[in-house]
Order: sequence, then structure tokens, then C-alpha cells
Amino acid sequence: MKWSESHLYTLKEKPADAEITSHALMVRAGLIRKLAPGIYTYGPLALKAIRKVEKVIREELDRRGCQELLMPMVQPRELWEETNRWTEMGDGLLKFENRNGHSFCLGATHEEAITDFVRKDLKSYRNLPVNLYQIQTKYRDEIRPRFGLMRGREFIMKDAYSFDLDLEGAQESYKKMYEAYQAIFTRLGLNFVIVQADSGNIGGNQSNEFQVLAESGEDGLMVCEEANYAANVEIAPRKVKPKQGDQNLQEVEEFATPGLRTITDLAKSTGLAENDLVKTMFFDASDGGDKIKPVAVLLCGDDEVNAIKLKNVLNLTNPPELLNDKEVKELTGASPGSCGPVDLKIPVYSDQALEGHTNFIVGANKDDFHLKNVNFERDFKSEGFFDLCLAKEGDECPEGRGGKYKAYRGIEVGHVFYLGTKYSEKMGATYLNKEGKAKPVEMGCYGIGVTRTVQAAIEQSHDQNGIVWPLPVAPYQVHICLLDPKDEKVSGVAHDFYNKLQENGVEVLMDDRDERPGVKFKDADLLGMPLRFTVGGRGVENGELEWVERRLSGDKSAKKTVAIDEAFDLVMSWLKENQK
Ligand code: ATP
Ligand code: MG
Repeated sequence: MKWSESHLYTLKEKPADAEITSHALMVRAGLIRKLAPGIYTYGPLALKAIRKVEKVIREELDRRGCQELLMPMVQPRELWEETNRWTEMGDGLLKFENRNGHSFCLGATHEEAITDFVRKDLKSYRNLPVNLYQIQTKYRDEIRPRFGLMRGREFIMKDAYSFDLDLEGAQESYKKMYEAYQAIFTRLGLNFVIVQADSGNIGGNQSNEFQVLAESGEDGLMVCEEANYAANVEIAPRKVKPKQGDQNLQEVEEFATPGLRTITDLAKSTGLAENDLVKTMFFDASDGGDKIKPVAVLLCGDDEVNAIKLKNVLNLTNPPELLNDKEVKELTGASPGSCGPVDLKIPVYSDQALEGHTNFIVGANKDDFHLKNVNFERDFKSEGFFDLCLAKEGDECPEGRGGKYKAYRGIEVGHVFYLGTKYSEKMGATYLNKEGKAKPVEMGCYGIGVTRTVQAAIEQSHDQNGIVWPLPVAPYQVHICLLDPKDEKVSGVAHDFYNKLQENGVEVLMDDRDERPGVKFKDADLLGMPLRFTVGGRGVENGELEWVERRLSGDKSAKKTVAIDEAFDLVMSWLKENQK
């Protein structure tokens, strides 16, 4: 592509709403433009990168026997009601009516649509297994779209669904997709880890996420190298040492704690470690119901509640939300910093780290007062001890081998789920087995955020001057800076080189604009194509071109020259070497 003939505009300034580098770079490099919050146009360069990701996905899935189809984006309410997800998905589902008053939503995910498609033709065990996928625009009405394509409302996803006869078959399908994802993200040149994950409201009980490592990632990850174990912090189990509380239980005593509302203040004033103080938090376990269903959670002062673990312990569909100050006051008579479990009329769930604790301090449910010498059972009833808190770096890994968690941050680019029969049972997707008995089909579902993956590649690979595209995702492989487009000789050399590369299938972008060299170099760094050539008057006179790999372009000494008639061979061998 010749820049002068394209619609490509770069920006000097980073956009005001860009919180992370890859978002700023995508906008500055003219890759994306915002149409509405979370809704972007993918410009020609971005689309080329997207298509490359899609190509790798297609190749890896097709070779494993998966088949591509394309389902509707607009889906009728009745379909989603079969699984109760019309309600369960909440406001994330964008709903609307057509002119006849029929309710529809935009596809946020396609378990219902695919199950409907398959059940219509599924008859006997001979029809299985089957694995179908699509690459399509999804719409999710995210509360807080941000970070550009990372958390969009409209985005491109590859979603695949497997249908098997039994658990064994489903596990084989899962393994196949897991391996396909490993191959895909490896081929895309990304640095990723695979972690155990929660299965959210998709269902099922086995799930792994593919996380591209990046400090700006939204997901916290806990990795234990010794045990070769990694989990999303949402579910990362903790192993804690039980407390050795004094068995000599003391009398409960109320004491004044004026103005001491935080654990840190209370620890300072009492001289106790934060870990020995007990916090009480309140959550709404109504799972989106109209009326609040409060529960209390007790935990060590220096721990934090993990809402996903709590959701799973309470067997809810969605993570319970923290009650606000007003709701807490109505429930306990006190502000959150002065609350405790004694005399509460609601279920109390205790974190495992409190097991064995005795004579501890809790809020008195009276502003500015606490109770000391409070004990389980004697002073209040707890539903039991559960793993309810967030794991932290340095926590012992429960997988054994004495390892400790290290904390990382990641961008979730892919997710594989084992679904079981959750959808097939509700939607009547059954087949007749060899004995002629109707059986619900075993399912799995597998997503890749295509547009998120493209941005993750940038988040992982850039420098202070711009994008450093990994070759497999780069919109163009070669960038030619033609410095003197008006000089016939120089322009002729650049065009010959450009044409020869194009004719041989090399993807090349030539900056033939009437701009100063400084502007062209800056833009070349910003756009980040892997291999750059400069064609200018002085070089051409000497029969040379200057070239540099983008990943080294910040370093002046990395610039090299090549004879004009050897430049083409250099590109071909460089690509061959780097495309492995
Ligand atoms: P997240 O926890 O990030 O919201 P999710 O668990 O809702 O993701 P899935 O339903 O598993 O995501 O969707 C499959 C893939 O689609 C994800 O792994 C992610 O790469 C991508 N994805 C999900 N939501 C978005 C979004 N709002 N914008 C861009 N990509 C997304
Ligand atoms: Mg989500």
C-alpha cells in the first residue's frame, strides 16, 4: 500500500481516554477510531492484523476437524428464556423490540443459538461428535467499556462449541481445543500463561484461561513455578496455617474505640497485628433479586474477600455485591467500621484463616465501640469455615511441593470451558444412544477475543516510540520510507523495490507522502512494521538502502546498509528466518 493513496492518519497526541499504552498507540497509529463508548471502527491497518489472527485461528481449528459456520447476531428472547439467561445475564445483554413488539437481544455469546442449531438435526449417536465455530461480532453492554479494544461493547470473538456423546468424549474435545489454543497463541508470538479459572455464568465446572502477560492486564494471576500451577486470582485457592488461639476463653467486654473505623487504626491503638483482628463485611446474596438477602463474612483484618469464591460457596450465579454504608447501618445499627457478628440475625460465613482463633476483637454493632474476647460458637453462630479470601503473592501454594505464589497480571485472550449438559438438558438437545435411549449431549465452549488479542499483542510489544508488531500479527511486514518522492531517480528505486516485494507476496507499506524525513521516521516507529527500509538521495547515489528491524530502531547503531540489488533477497531471507 502506498501511504499517499490510503486513508491513514496518525496523531501526535495520545487520546484523553486512553489509560493504557496499547490503547493510546492504536488510536495514534490510526488503527482504530471510536464511534461511541466501547464501539470502534477498525481501520484498514487494524483489520489486516485482525485478519491475520483469524487466519491462524482458522488454520489451527480446521486442521483439528472443527467446522466454521456463522450464526445470527440478533436472537429472539424465547431462545434465551429456555436457559433462563434472558434474566441471568442481566443488563449485559442488549435487548430491544422490533416493530411487531417481539423481543430480541444482540448475541453476547452463542450457547443457546448453537444448541438450537444442533438439536434440530441431532438424532443418533452417529451424529456425534461435532465441533462448530464462528468468528463474529459480539455485543456485550459492558458497564465500563475501557482500554480501547480490550474491553469493548462491540468486539470480534471466535467462539467454538463441542458436542459429544459422553464425558470422556467431552474431555477429549476440551483437550483438543486446549492444544489448539496453545498452538494459536504461540504462533501469534505472544507470551502467555494458561490458568485455572472460574466458569462465570456460562456454566460447567472445568475451565482454563489463556492470559497474555502484561502489567496493565485486568486479571490478577497466581503462579506457582514449583508445582507448575497457575490460577486466576478469582479462584486461586489459599492454604493457611490454622491459628493457635488461647483455649482459656475470656469474658466478652465492650470497649470504646472513638474514631477508629479502619483495621489499621484499630491495630495501632490495640497493639495487635492486623492479621489478628477480625473484619466483618456484608454482602447481598439475593443474586439479582428484588429484595436484599444479607450475609456476613468474617475474615482476618489484612485479608480481602474474594467475591467469586463467595459466589461459589453460596452457590450463586453472580458474584454478590457489597452492601453500602446505609444498608449496613439499617442491618446492624452501626457504620461498617464498627460492625461485628454478635447478635446478627443473618448467616455468617467465616474465612478458613480464622479457624482456631479465640478471644478476638470485632465491632460491637454500635458506632465507636468494639468487643474483645469474642469467640466462635459461644458468642455467635458461623455457617462454617471456607476459603473466601483473595490469595496474595507469597501465600503457600496448596498444590504442595512447598511452592509459593507469585503474582502476575494478564489479559485474558482465550477461555475454554467444559459445560456438561447444562444447555443440552434445558434445551432438549438429545440423541439416541446404541440402546435407543435419549441422552443429553455433552458440551464444551471455547472463546478467543480476536480484537482483544490484537491489542494485547501491542500491549506486550511496544517501546517509547510506538508499536513493535510481532511479525505474525503485523499489518505489513515491510515499511519503506521514501524520503525524496519528487526525485525521479530515488522514487524509481523505491517503486521498483516496492513492486518487486508486492509481486512476491510481501506485505509492504510505502510512505511516499510529501513529508519531512523526521515525520516519516516518527510515523514508521509509531506504526511498528517489523522491517524498515529508507530510500533517500544520498543512499541511492551510493547504490545503497538503509535498513533496520523495528525492534532495534531506537538504537542508531542497529541501522545497516544493503546494496540496492541485494535488498530484495535480504527481505526474503529475513522473513524466512523470522517466520519460523
Ligand atoms: P472478561 O472476564 O474479560 O469479561 P469473559 O469471561 O466475559 O471475559 P468469555 O465470555 O469467556 O469472556 O469470552 C471469550 C473471550 O472474549 C474472552 O476470553 C475475551 O478474550 C473476549 N472478550 C470478552 N469480553 C470482551 C470485551 N468486552 N471486549 C473484548 N473482548 C472480550
Ligand atoms: Mg465478561
